[in-house]
Amino acid sequence: MSLHPDLNAPAEPPRVPALLRRRQALQAGGVVLLMGLTELAWGASIVAVRVWPAPDYTRVTIESDGALTARQTFVANPPRLAVDIDGIEMNPALRELVAKVKADDPFISGIRVGQYAPGVVRLVIDLKQPALPQVFTLPPVAAYQHRLVFDLYPTVAADPLEALIAERLQDSRQSLTPPAPASTGMASKPAALPDPLGELIAQRNPATASTPGRPELKPSPNLSSPGTAHSTAQAPVNVSPPAPPVRPSKPAATESAEAQATDRLIIIALDPGHGGEDPGATGPSGTREKDVVLSIAHLLRERINATTVKGNPMRAFMTRDADFFVPLHVRVDKARRVQADLFVSIHADAFITPAARGASVFALSQSGASSAAARWMADKENRADQVGGLNVKVQDATVQRALLDMSTTAQINDSLKLGTALLGEISAVGRLHKPKVEQAGFAVLKAPDIPSVLVETAFISNPEEEARLRSPEYQNQLADAVMRGIERYFSRNPPLARNRSA
Ligand SMILES: [Zn+2]
Repeated sequence: MSLHPDLNAPAEPPRVPALLRRRQALQAGGVVLLMGLTELAWGASIVAVRVWPAPDYTRVTIESDGALTARQTFVANPPRLAVDIDGIEMNPALRELVAKVKADDPFISGIRVGQYAPGVVRLVIDLKQPALPQVFTLPPVAAYQHRLVFDLYPTVAADPLEALIAERLQDSRQSLTPPAPASTGMASKPAALPDPLGELIAQRNPATASTPGRPELKPSPNLSSPGTAHSTAQAPVNVSPPAPPVRPSKPAATESAEAQATDRLIIIALDPGHGGEDPGATGPSGTREKDVVLSIAHLLRERINATTVKGNPMRAFMTRDADFFVPLHVRVDKARRVQADLFVSIHADAFITPAARGASVFALSQSGASSAAARWMADKENRADQVGGLNVKVQDATVQRALLDMSTTAQINDSLKLGTALLGEISAVGRLHKPKVEQAGFAVLKAPDIPSVLVETAFISNPEEEARLRSPEYQNQLADAVMRGIERYFSRNPPLARNRSA
């Protein structure tokens, strides 16, 4: 690795007369001209540059028509990443990169770019905070040519559970005035309940964050005694008497324990498919799957956060809440870290013929797909990591995937029940593609301990359905239907106490 000394210097392009001479020399040769002047002279041409800021990490992508190699140097003070890219010259697309950094980017404060030496472009990414950079290349896939990717991760990864807790606390503060009377239990309680969240914080095992792939699952806040697996608020009380709840590791148990005794936060992981570099399917009018599924997920989140199940507040947890790429196994891992009760992945896919239409719901299969179409769909969805751009060199990804292959029959059975409930409600607002839950090996459904379904809300490849998917009316109807399906599922399958440590 060559460390250039002047990382502080603005990366201004120096004069490169040698290149001009080279260009003139190339123009002299007819054969060379046929092969493409730009490619030979510049090595590779930049096709596009993109920046994907997100709280999880910020990604910078440089797409080119030839493979690029890069050498990186991280400088701690002030934090910045210098990357020397070989085989390219400055061009307008690279200059655009500078303007693509948004002021609210969590990691990047600015990018400087310039010709450092003939055939070498230097990129200096100025950072707002120390970051763990991952620099890797991706071979051409889908609509993309070669990609050189810089991912900037925080040095301390955000804890999804803490984020969920903070969000809920904020909501509680905002709703200090009690909501209008409603028919369900929660409305009769004080609105500002730090309640299950305090418990979640107190009981959250700090080891969780450092245990790769296998987060420790803690007991429910409302277990009436350790080891009692059935004492949820709505489970029959004859399993164990409704004694005052024992809250082993709760520091502030006394203030409003009675009011909270039956509360147990029910967490629904919402997984809007695709994102960032992976647009998902694209409709004939250009509608992108990643955008419509995020909209639908937001609508569903509103409904979930306003819903209770027999007095237990529900909370949506989004595996992505912005337009960025999240690897499939990370989606599963996030849901497990918050100990989600359900996992609902939302998609709007395409088929090779525009005639295909209607919604479908999929669950995992342990033994082959339920149909050729289901297998085709799973293969297609599982390619998201290639399109989105997974750094395959990251070792623990493999470990996590191996662990996640321990899916259980119980999970699949519950997933089928959930899927059936969802299909029943979705059929009331739209056409179904298949009346039964289909099964195949979807990587994103592999949390062994969370009932998980993938909803294909419609075929975005069908012009009529694409138009519906774009319409706020249909998005709202779909969100309502999925919400009713989730409630229907819980009415027959009460959430279990959290006693799932393996
Ligand atoms: Zn999809």
